[in-house]
Amino acid sequence: MTAETYLVINAGSSTIKYALYDANTLALLEKKTLEMADKAGYDAAFNDLLKLVEDRNVKGVAHRVVHGGRDYAAPQKLDDKVLADLEALTPLAPLHQPHNLKPAKLVMDKFPNLPQVACFDTAFHRTQPRLNQLYALPKDLTDEGVLRYGFHGSSYEYIAAVLPAIAGDDIAKGRVIVAHLGSGASVCAMKDGKSVASSMGFTPLDGLMMGTRTGAIDPGVPLYLMEQKGLSAKSISDIFQKHSGLKGVSGGISNDMRVLLNSPAPEAKEAVDLFCLYAARQIAALTVDLGGLDALVFTAGIGENSGIIREKICGHLKHLGVTTDAKLNAANGPAIHDAAGSIAVYVIKTNEELMMARHIDAVIQRPPAPKPPQAPKI
Ligand code: AMP
Repeated sequence: MTAETYLVINAGSSTIKYALYDANTLALLEKKTLEMADKAGYDAAFNDLLKLVEDRNVKGVAHRVVHGGRDYAAPQKLDDKVLADLEALTPLAPLHQPHNLKPAKLVMDKFPNLPQVACFDTAFHRTQPRLNQLYALPKDLTDEGVLRYGFHGSSYEYIAAVLPAIAGDDIAKGRVIVAHLGSGASVCAMKDGKSVASSMGFTPLDGLMMGTRTGAIDPGVPLYLMEQKGLSAKSISDIFQKHSGLKGVSGGISNDMRVLLNSPAPEAKEAVDLFCLYAARQIAALTVDLGGLDALVFTAGIGENSGIIREKICGHLKHLGVTTDAKLNAANGPAIHDAAGSIAVYVIKTNEELMMARHIDAVIQRPPAPKPPQAPKI
């Protein structure tokens, strides 16, 4: 009999990522990213995953689910009622939620007694004060749930978990901004390891400029595209989600930061510079929510690997006391601040999958809590 394992699934709109962990040690056994071209590709991949559940003695499955709405403030064990609740949130994340839930349903159909847990991108942010969750919209829309939810929660949760060992308790308990800079990008302000504010809002479109997404934009722009150019909601969504960001600003050269950094084209440089400016502005904005800043942490594909991008972003934040040491920065940290700087700066590799494996492990190991922790309704 092979050792028991946990399966972690992140089924997205163009890829399925999965990771298999040893259920005793939480050591990573296997990690794969599958590119999905069409429905047939998804069906085949899901079949393979179901087979994996049997072949690799999987004792629990964790799923990345983008939206947990207002109610789910912690990872949640899946049953029919929870799945129905999460399906009802699809209008809030139409591009992600159905993909995220599909494998959970398939596993539940085939292995009804296998424990499964949903890990929400939004859950980590439910600790934010009410004011930080509000848009300046009519109250009935707020009451209906048009709020700032925030995303990338598993990544921030992981960073919050490892920060004390890397930066010490004082900093980890202090005012920290984490910049998750990958193909999706956001920043999160934390105090005492808990989310206070974030740049992503109602959807993962808000905030920073990203690989193909706009980030924050004047709401007048979609109105212009609709009223003056006659574009449909679908076309506008495609522009904002798939054809903007690094890819759009570079005139289509690439959504990949490495390609842009290596390109001599002025459009590529402009895209890179705008990305850094957006990131720095959002970091500076979040210092308001924290009343200052003790540490800045860079993570995800760009944040972990690109000294040039970190240097450019920190260059915009010198007036706040953010300075980096060129050698430490080039070596990718973990500490990259200059001895003279007043703010600690770190590079920390994120691990969303491991965070999710820990969640399914906790669900299986621990007796069921009387009630999952719920954020107060706002
Ligand atoms: P992620 O979504 O976290 O996997 O991050 C993907 C992004 O990280 C892409 O834009 C990559 O180009 C970028 N990336 C990965 N390695 C590097 C690197 N060495 N320098 C700059 N960007 C990088």
